[in-house]
Amino acid sequence: MATTKKQVISGYHRPVCPECECEMRPETNGVGVLDMASFGPYKIYDADLWKCPKCGKKVIGGFGIGALAHHNDDIFQPLVDAYQERDKLYKNYEYIKEGTDAN
Ligand SMILES: [Zn+2]
Repeated sequence: MATTKKQVISGYHRPVCPECECEMRPETNGVGVLDMASFGPYKIYDADLWKCPKCGKKVIGGFGIGALAHHNDDIFQPLVDAYQERDKLYKNYEYIKEGTDAN
């Protein structure tokens, strides 16, 4: 696994649940977020999955500075595969997917 520049930097506030008015807790460190462009996978980022201890809502934050790789980098697909194999890959579509509930 490639090392990343991501740190849980002190000084960055944890995400807050607006419903429960409390800080979220780290659920999974080191998840992959795959930006999806109109042509397909575009960039991959390292981030953290947070969860509200009261209502259980989740959010992905704590992104590293810049992408780990772009789609034309040699390391791109191996990185995507590595996150996928550990069930830690989340896609981020440029447009809201059909059938997704919108608030
Ligand atoms: Zn909550």
